[in-house]
Formats: sequence, structure tokens, C-alpha cells
Amino acid sequence: MKLNLYNTLTRTKAPFAPIDPKNVRMYVCGPTVYDYAHIGNARPVIVFDVLFRLLRHIYGEAHVTYVRNITDVDDKINARAAERYPDMAPEAGIRKLTEETAAQFHKDIAALGVLRPTHEPRATDHIQQMIDIIVALLAKGYAYVAAGEVLFDVRSMKDYGELSNRNLDDQQAGARVEVEAHKKNPGDFVLWKLSEPHQPGWESPWGRGRPGWHIECSAMSARYLGEVFDIHGGGLDLIFPHHENEIAQSRCAHGTPVMANTWMHNGFLQVEGEKMSKSLGNFVTINELLETEKFGGRKWPGEVLRLAMLMTHYREPIDFTAKRLEEAHSILNRWSEIAFGTNVGAYEAHLLDGHPLLDDLNTPLFVTQMHGLFKSAKAGDTTARVNFRLGLQLLGFEGIELPGAARALRTAQVADDPKITRLISARKAARAAKDFKESDRIRDELAAMGIALKDTKNKDTGEIETTWEVAR
Ligand code: AMP
Ligand code: ZN
Repeated sequence: MKLNLYNTLTRTKAPFAPIDPKNVRMYVCGPTVYDYAHIGNARPVIVFDVLFRLLRHIYGEAHVTYVRNITDVDDKINARAAERYPDMAPEAGIRKLTEETAAQFHKDIAALGVLRPTHEPRATDHIQQMIDIIVALLAKGYAYVAAGEVLFDVRSMKDYGELSNRNLDDQQAGARVEVEAHKKNPGDFVLWKLSEPHQPGWESPWGRGRPGWHIECSAMSARYLGEVFDIHGGGLDLIFPHHENEIAQSRCAHGTPVMANTWMHNGFLQVEGEKMSKSLGNFVTINELLETEKFGGRKWPGEVLRLAMLMTHYREPIDFTAKRLEEAHSILNRWSEIAFGTNVGAYEAHLLDGHPLLDDLNTPLFVTQMHGLFKSAKAGDTTARVNFRLGLQLLGFEGIELPGAARALRTAQVADDPKITRLISARKAARAAKDFKESDRIRDELAAMGIALKDTKNKDTGEIETTWEVAR
């Protein structure tokens, strides 16, 4: 099975060759946990979950290590924790806030059918590893101390800017940002900064302080995956500065030619052409979509949100609309007509070369092909049935209650369907005329469409009232 992946570092699609096929290693930047995650944040989580499933399928479940971190130290977190838990010590306050938020995140993404990564390290549990890297960077002349900060000197690294294709001279010439007086170059970034007593802080060779954002991922990836690993992922917005700076720190500290061989970035989930983000205020949380009627006037099952995401290629932008969710819902509704037992044997079938998922995770093309597999499987083709089921597993719909989700949509469709309303009143008329044969025939006709009727006698009027529900 040949897997091709697009690599942001080389700007080409190339065959994927793991460093060690017995331990394929992937790191994806996880959420900064201070508030509910929005549905844009769910995109990398779902996209890299599909890649995780695919890698496990190709190399074997025991041979893939997937790390997705939790960023639990950040100035937005500090501010929120101080506001919510003013009486707690700052370190305890951020711990409480981030634990609560991380629990909510796990609950949200579990509803989206996302597997747990192999490791989910928290930044605050890896402060020592960060300090070790900063010490190495200082010793090798890649960093300096100024005005209570340890900074990375971007000019000290020959090929800084390779990932985002930025040249430092262009950057400086066009820079509109004021150079902060203590920095040697405007692009120098913080590795460590001193904390005020009211801010969370850890002891370090430079005094009580806290890490910069980028250093966390350098520390945690090295801890769980080694100095050089296979795949590093995240959203497009992380290419610069976050990933560029992770690369600078890791390569300079470890003296390696690359940090990860393949860099993958998902496109943005957008609302009316703009990136969904907290700062623009155009966001809807995963929790609101699952639990409230805020978006499109109804609740959306997690599997619908998941399929809606996979109907677009991961590098393309997605416009997030209720129409797209309706479409995903009716596809799942159809697919759920084939029932598999709950005892699903894992990945028993094999992907053939040329499978769309092997072509840089072409999920939209695969979703289209799944319609064909579904039709053939329904017509009794056993190979198609096995492949359809494997498709469900790889896309992440195994073990999800498809019929449950489908029923909600079907109910909405039935309520709007004039044919069904007509049949129900025709049956009422037949009963009134004591034509029980006809009334039974209509009942059977509706049952064949998956609609169950229930007659109850109204105690006050003595009249028979008929209600319906979707039986499957
Ligand atoms: P954050 O918590 O903002 O660091 O974001 C967590 C992850 O979500 C990162 O990989 C971001 O790139 C990604 N992300 C944030 N907003 C969007 C969006 N609108 N569409 C796709 N990915 C996003
Ligand atoms: Zn990161």
C-alpha cells in the first residue's frame, strides 16, 4: 500500500516512508484549554484521527504512536483562571480551569468518533524538558537573555523560515512592527519569561517564570517521539510562527537536519468566507452543535459533524453551513440501512493501491465511492460489503449509533412528506367508513416505509387518535 502525503516543508506530494515502520510517529498540536472548543478546532482533531486510523491500518495498531498535546499554560489561560478562581494560587487556578476545559474537550470530541491518541501530554507536566532545551540553546549560542526573557535569536539559524518560506531580510524590510528594544531582531521569540507573583511560574535558572508557547511542543514531541519523527500536523495558521519556531528550537537544540519529515496542515473551517475564530466572534462550539438548537435551529449528532468535515479535502477551506450538515445527515441515513453487528473485527479487509485515502487523504472522493460500495453491498455483493465496512471504520463511523442519528432526520423528513400525511388521513377516513381491510392495508404500506402507527383512544371524546413514529 503506497501512501502519498502532501508535505508543507517541500511543497510536494511524496510517498510516505516512516523512519521505523514498527513505530510510526505523529505529533499534532492540541487545544489551548481555557474555553469550549469551536467546530473549527475540531477540524484538525478529525482530520488527523482519520490519518491515525489509516496509519494503524497500514502499519498495524501496535506500530503507530500518536501524540496530541494539551496546552495548559498560556496568558489567555492565566487571565481566565485569575478571573474564575481569584482565591487560588495561580498554578492551582490554571490547573483547575484547564482540567475542567480538557474534560469538556474530551467529551465533545468523543461524540465526534475520535480515538484517544497514544499520549496526551500536558505542557505543565513537562516544564523540566523545556528548561533543558532552553539551556542547550543558550549553550550553543542560539538564544540570549534580555529584560527578564530568554529569546531565540532567529539570525543565528542559517535556514530559519524554511517551512513558511519566509526570508528574514524580506520580513525585516517590510516589517511594520516596532522592534522591541530588548530584541536583537524583530522576529526573535520568547522561550522563557519571568512571572509576576500573581502569574503562574516555575523555578528555572533564569528565575521564577513560565515558558513561551512554541517551546512546549519541542519538549513534548522530543519526550514521546524522539528528536526526529515522521509527521507533524496542525491547522494552517500554525505554520507561522508556531511550527517555524518549533523547528528552529528543536533542530538547533538537537543538531538535527529536520524536526519531522512530513508537515501537514489542514485548511480553515470558515463562516461566510472568514476563518471561524474566537477573536472574530463568528464561532459555534462543538458543545452547542451537539446539545442546543443554536445552529440551523436543531441539534446535530456528532457523526453528522464528522462526515460534514470529511466531505471536503483536508487542505481545502470548508464553508460551514446547515445545508452541508443536512447533506451529511442524509448520507448517514442511507448508509445506516446496512447494519453490522457491534462485534466489528478490526480492519480485516485491505486497501488497494490507488485508494483515495492513500492519495493524501482524499476523503471527499472516498465518500463518493462509498455510495457505490453501499449500493453493491445492499445488492448482496459480499466484497463490497467488507469494503464498505472497512470504509466506515477508516472514516471513523464504526461503533457509532448510525441508526439513532438517522432516525432524527427521518422523523423530520416524514413530518414534511405530503405522501405520508395523505396516507395517514386516508387511513383515518377508511376507519371512519369501517373499511378495516383498507385501513390495515395502509398501515402495512406505512410499515414498509419504516413508519409505525399507534392508535390510542381519547378518554374524553372516545375518539381514536393516531400518532406515528419512525421505526427504523
Ligand atoms: P488553538 O486552540 O487556537 O491553538 O487551535 C487548536 C487547533 O485548531 C490548531 O491546530 C488550529 O490550527 C486549529 N484551528 C483553529 N481554528 C480553525 C479553523 N477555523 N479551521 C480549522 N482549524 C482551526
Ligand atoms: Zn505545537
